[in-house]
Amino acid sequence: MKDTSKSNRALKMPRLSDDIKIDMRYDKTLVTKEGKKLYSYRSKRANIIVIHHTATTSTQRTRSAFMSRNASTHYEIDRDGIIYQYLSPIYYVAWHVAGFNYRSIGIDLTHPTGADFTLAQTKSLAKLLDMLCTAFGITKTVAPKTTQYFSYENGKDGKKHKRCLTLPTNEFGIYRHSNLAQTQCPDGAPIEEALNFQLRS
Ligand SMILES: [Zn+2]
Repeated sequence: MKDTSKSNRALKMPRLSDDIKIDMRYDKTLVTKEGKKLYSYRSKRANIIVIHHTATTSTQRTRSAFMSRNASTHYEIDRDGIIYQYLSPIYYVAWHVAGFNYRSIGIDLTHPTGADFTLAQTKSLAKLLDMLCTAFGITKTVAPKTTQYFSYENGKDGKKHKRCLTLPTNEFGIYRHSNLAQTQCPDGAPIEEALNFQLRS
């Protein structure tokens, strides 16, 4: 695959404020047993953020799940609020939502299905969204909970094919996985709470 990351060099992340710390120890470590990298190179600047929950109990299990499922994300926010960067959203495309990967930044919250999200996660999500929306010029509002920006059509091969609809990126820059695919993910992740939290602080 052609490395197109050079064309994105002009897009700089802002200097991180002292109260947001991102743990880089697993940066670019998402590879399969066969050594296959679970990401591709960016050719288009990201203009949306997609929120997921992991359906796992720990970040270690999340990484194992990614490697066995050929999936990836840019950030994971652990139960204690620590943010791990797996891939730089400037240079790399993560594989987290078919059809929308090339234009998006993925954020996963460590969360066993049905559990509560933690206040530490909400705070870290608030900071991360603030940083990324500023850096990428992404609209800092979340799409309505039940709106689906995709449809399925019957293909000539008899299979259903996903069609991605046009996103209102000027109105909404932040999406739940469930806005963009048939899934329960992110299982009630506190996105509005994070955005409100940021506004108050
Ligand atoms: Zn998801």
